Amino acid sequence: MPVVMKFGGTSVADAAAFENVARIVANERDAAPIVIVSAMSGVTDSLLAATNIASLENVFERHRAVAYELLDPSQATAFINQLRAVADKIDALLQSPAEYKSLQDAIVSFGETLSSTLLAEVLNKKGIAARHVDARRCIITDEEFTSAAPLMAETFAQSQSELIPVLESGVVPVLGGFIGSTKQGVTTTLGRGGSDYTAALIGAALGVREIQIWTDVTGVLTADPRVVPEAQTIERLSYGEAAELAYFGAKVLHPKTIQPAIENSIPVRICNSRAPQEPGTLVGPETETSPRTIKAIAHKTGVTTVQISSARMLGAYGFLRKLFEVFDEHRTVVDVVTTSEVSVSLSLDDASALPAIVAELEQLGTVSVENGRAIICVVGEGLRRTPGIAARVFSTISDINVTLISQGASSINVTFAIEEERVKEAVTRLHDEFFCEK
Ligand code: ASP
Ligand code: MG
Repeated sequence: MPVVMKFGGTSVADAAAFENVARIVANERDAAPIVIVSAMSGVTDSLLAATNIASLENVFERHRAVAYELLDPSQATAFINQLRAVADKIDALLQSPAEYKSLQDAIVSFGETLSSTLLAEVLNKKGIAARHVDARRCIITDEEFTSAAPLMAETFAQSQSELIPVLESGVVPVLGGFIGSTKQGVTTTLGRGGSDYTAALIGAALGVREIQIWTDVTGVLTADPRVVPEAQTIERLSYGEAAELAYFGAKVLHPKTIQPAIENSIPVRICNSRAPQEPGTLVGPETETSPRTIKAIAHKTGVTTVQISSARMLGAYGFLRKLFEVFDEHRTVVDVVTTSEVSVSLSLDDASALPAIVAELEQLGTVSVENGRAIICVVGEGLRRTPGIAARVFSTISDINVTLISQGASSINVTFAIEEERVKEAVTRLHDEFFCEK
């Protein structure tokens, strides 16, 4: 069974990074790798911001530099010719009056097209037989340009027919992440960060043994290392635990992007390109309880909490609908929610629409707002089964005022809000309590 190896933009930032990727792929050579790569770091942003071709000179120069440094002269010449053709196409697109979003996808797709073409050549140069496969022939999507949804049946069938023959001939397929095409062959993209999604889709289509997400951190840590320097890498997480943690750091996989892996019970490993020998974190279907029962103490600052109290809530229906409609109208994401008979408390990351929201909520009840809050989330499948953990959490920080306590429906987390100023102290004490041998 093959493995998918996905490398993010920082893993292909420059020639040294490309060489490192080649070394990592060489080590997995026997595992039949399928390589998926993001655009070189910063390239997607530059392509999105480009208004004229001159503003992209630095982007082209970075690709040229890698080609000259790592490829044979004949390979480099061929790639530079391709780069020129791409520049001409982008130039034409920038001047064309076509419909905006599809135009944007057409332009931005060149980031992944170039990085994957270049990586295939670099692998070949290093003696690893590799072939560039156009991801747009594998990932078939609807027409929702800039955040297209894959059509699963078509994507699975196409990925199999494009990739299996390459694998069978002992060659490593190299694809750009993030990009796809409609059934008519028009280029689309899966939304920012979409390369992880490509990795999960291809992994699911081919029933791979493992999907590896290579990035620049050592897996998922037991706490934020900026707050807790002794934080350790978590060896294993369940899909559910990883989903709970996703809110607390962009470094953890977005649950949506690994959905195809979850549905097919394919483990996802988060690996560090800078420390490839370390096992990273394996996210999988197993719901094993860690010996320490909890897996991580995550937190987030800059949170606002809102409380709405109203006697009208008691025994009335439709109240919660009205309340959430207010947030809906103002396109404001609500994170943690708790309710009692006569009050609702919730947390928001983005409080920019709050004045308008509060004005409307005041029609429903008494509203109080607290800024400068932090959310702490204690995560672990063990919470589901082991009694007394929540008590241990709260007694560890018994002198800190806790609000908005919630235990998600999945029962694998306890989440609560505290004052932002005390978050470092609270997280450190909790980490000591649950992760340090005494
Ligand atoms: N290059 C795309 C982005 O920057 C996709 C990805 O890297 O996952 O969003
Ligand atoms: Mg990413």
